[in-house]
Amino acid sequence: MKAEKNAIILAHYYQTGDIQDIADFVGDSLELSQKAASNSADIIVLSGVKFMAETAKILAPDKKVLLPDIYAGCSLADSCKPEDFKKFIDENPGRTVISYVNTNAEIKALSDIICTSSNAVSIVESLPGDEKIIFAPDRNLGNYILNRTGKDMIIWNGTCYVHEEFSLEALLELKKKNKDAKIIVHPECELQVRMVADFIGSTAAMIDFTKNDNSKSYIVATEAGIIHQMKKENHDKKFLPVPPVDSTCGCSECRFMKLITIEKIYKCLLDEKPEIIIEKDILLKARKPIIRMLEISEKQGF
Ligand code: SF4
Repeated sequence: MKAEKNAIILAHYYQTGDIQDIADFVGDSLELSQKAASNSADIIVLSGVKFMAETAKILAPDKKVLLPDIYAGCSLADSCKPEDFKKFIDENPGRTVISYVNTNAEIKALSDIICTSSNAVSIVESLPGDEKIIFAPDRNLGNYILNRTGKDMIIWNGTCYVHEEFSLEALLELKKKNKDAKIIVHPECELQVRMVADFIGSTAAMIDFTKNDNSKSYIVATEAGIIHQMKKENHDKKFLPVPPVDSTCGCSECRFMKLITIEKIYKCLLDEKPEIIIEKDILLKARKPIIRMLEISEKQGF
């Protein structure tokens, strides 16, 4: 059916292993947007969450973009409402607005540049030294960038519920039992978790790190779906997910990401819905800051 319809399945690293295995392409937010902007398919099935499908639609407006479950949202994107964000920008004039890709289309339309966790630091560093910045919506990623760059930044107070929930106590307990394991952490995690990290990076950077590093085991502080890809790339290494503060299960999974199933992917390709539709004016305004990000990233070799 995929071949008949000239469709492509793009999946995020936080999807379940079975989905990652049938996808045409698996990547982080930056890689998914790059792929959405450059493929010859007529239909994109975005196996991830809504802001990712919206980004694909913004970059490929002539294609049909399908999201297998329209309720696959994101706590971080939803923490930043357009009317509140517009007020925030108006109250802090003269600042360049950098928004994380984990935002809804309306927020992107209010922004000057978009970034992902792969390129956030280098995008901020690419701006002139005295340029004042508004960063939204993730306060942990924002603080991480602020510490790395020392820029004048005002940061929106949003969070991803998955990355906020990692238990430092459980992490240190895992480390005590696995002394040789390196702690690898996503920058959306809170400061106390980032402070004990051996490595901090985006999902793609974390995967690369485990490929090139010579340790045999890793304690992984990001959504547990990424471990599928890490295991595929490193058969002889061990990966331990960090448990959340309050959970009866052993790992942290994003309930929005996990709404997507193989059955829903099949059904949405069969019915060609739910389809992502974005108002033209919003789409055109949201496109500019994403294109600016892709251009900066290309120049910097990302
Ligand atoms: S892991 Fe967090 S940031 Fe990513 S989709 Fe889920 S809620 Fe949003």
